[in-house]
Amino acid sequence: MKADKPHSPASAPAEKPAHFIRKIIADDVGAGKAKVLTRFPPEPNGYLHIGHAKSICLNFSMGEEFGGACNLRFDDTNPEKEEHEFIQSIQEDVRWLGFDWKAPVHFASEYFDQLYEWAIHLIKEGKAYVCHLSPDETREYRGTLTEPGRDSPYRNRSIDENLSLLEQMRSGALPEGTCVLRAKIDMASPNINMRDPAMYRIRHAQHHQTGDKWKIYPTYDYTHGQSDAIEGITHSICTLEFEDHKPLYDWYLDNLPVPSRPRQYEFARLNLNYTVMSKRKLKQLVDEKHVHGWDDPRMPTLSGYRRRGYTPAAIKNFCDMVGVARSNSVVDVGMLEFAIRDDLDKHAPRAMCVMSPLKVVITNFEAGKVESLSAANHPQHEEMGKRELPFTRELFIDKNDFREVAEKDFKRLVLGQEVRLRNAYVIRANEVVKNSSGEIVELHCTYDPDTHGKNPADGRKVKGVIHWVSATHCVDAEVRLYDRLFTAEAPEADRDKSFLELINPNSLTVLKNCKAEASLANAAPEARFQFEREGYFCADRFDSKPGKPVFNRTIGLRDTFGK
Ligand code: ATP
Ligand code: MG
Repeated sequence: MKADKPHSPASAPAEKPAHFIRKIIADDVGAGKAKVLTRFPPEPNGYLHIGHAKSICLNFSMGEEFGGACNLRFDDTNPEKEEHEFIQSIQEDVRWLGFDWKAPVHFASEYFDQLYEWAIHLIKEGKAYVCHLSPDETREYRGTLTEPGRDSPYRNRSIDENLSLLEQMRSGALPEGTCVLRAKIDMASPNINMRDPAMYRIRHAQHHQTGDKWKIYPTYDYTHGQSDAIEGITHSICTLEFEDHKPLYDWYLDNLPVPSRPRQYEFARLNLNYTVMSKRKLKQLVDEKHVHGWDDPRMPTLSGYRRRGYTPAAIKNFCDMVGVARSNSVVDVGMLEFAIRDDLDKHAPRAMCVMSPLKVVITNFEAGKVESLSAANHPQHEEMGKRELPFTRELFIDKNDFREVAEKDFKRLVLGQEVRLRNAYVIRANEVVKNSSGEIVELHCTYDPDTHGKNPADGRKVKGVIHWVSATHCVDAEVRLYDRLFTAEAPEADRDKSFLELINPNSLTVLKNCKAEASLANAAPEARFQFEREGYFCADRFDSKPGKPVFNRTIGLRDTFGK
């Protein structure tokens, strides 16, 4: 499986990609069509994921670009599934991405009264009827892709009988499942969606917006286009699976006295490898506690990416790179990782944090003395300033950066040899201190005071550079190393294994005993850094506290997955 486009530079393209939806809208606007109004219509039954981001970027940017706007409309035709938490999180995530909808927020349920009136209108026109076929019978009458359907025996009920039955459905007089209201279109249509589709079902359920007012609920197909028309949506952009529903979308609009005429356009949904995107499966991951919630940094949700340290700019750039097409494909998650790495490389200040600390004593540096060194926050951006780095007799380096004996290509610290401490001096390892079980617990080193910011005067070469922190000034930090949640490229496609069996057992490693440089002690929630030689990290927006920082690994410095 390949990305549908090669990795291109992630910096915002000067010219917006000329995709077909932009072209359609530009042509409409050129032809004098009224102001562009799009909408983003999530069902509030989960958190938004990266696929939604593609739809959000498309809908909101089209609205903005053409001097119009985009509505946020909760598609809440399904009374039982929705939850308040989802309504809140969806709004927060859209705002976080940097978009704002045309106030107020809409709910499809606002239009239930109007939709009901229009149902009566269709009955009176002889274009809708109440059908008492059971679900099994309905299926049987519907026909197949190769065979036409048959008319329901209830299809030619009188208008009065239909009106009276619909009223009984509405008032709660009829139990759930007794009957449905169907549009009377064409049981022989080659498009199965046109074979007298359901408009209303009886549901004696509580709805979070309308309470127990309604005992019947409209179907998505009957609701969507009419909601678009009521709001004055000009371009109703949806994913390809709605292509076959378009004749029905148009049929309702053609047969109802709607106040405006929206048009539906379809584009391919985003699929990412190594990622599960179905809301049902994401919910299962949360409910069965395979992850720590919808905003777990391993989740492909916007709130998960946010917590992990992804930036809105990187996500929007990624959506631009993916483009808008009309054929389905699977995008390489490496492209998303490329986008975030690219953004953070440019904008994240540098810092040092030792993941697996080993004490170093600089024996020729006076105890108690603190030498204040300074380091640039970004190697290319002077305007990002400098920070103070205290240098002291006791330091920490990473255990993995020291060997008693090593191959020639080990460019770090080896007993009896030298290495440069990043932003500081060259040190030499002279002696190893071990505990009773033979583990190295301390190194005794000397530093060369004449090597700050310059090479040794005698011309000897010191190749390696390692990071470090002052043992007396550093702050204890918890670091959470995240990796991809799935080991398989197509976790939903395996015939023999459930996606749950393909969860990466090493998707989270928690390091409790890390040593971060002093400047990181009070890192603001969501502050992002490049920890030199380690990767990009973000202060956890909920768990990181002043003096007790918690950092989430957003992404490594380069792509090492599977290596
Ligand atoms: P599910 O079937 O899992 O509930 P959905 O696609 O119905 O998912 P909605 O909340 O209804 O989810 O989606 C809101 C909007 O986001 C819709 O317009 C939908 O087309 C779009 N969308 C959802 N998933 C993707 C995706 N992977 N790529 C692009 N757009 C998407
Ligand atoms: Mg949906």
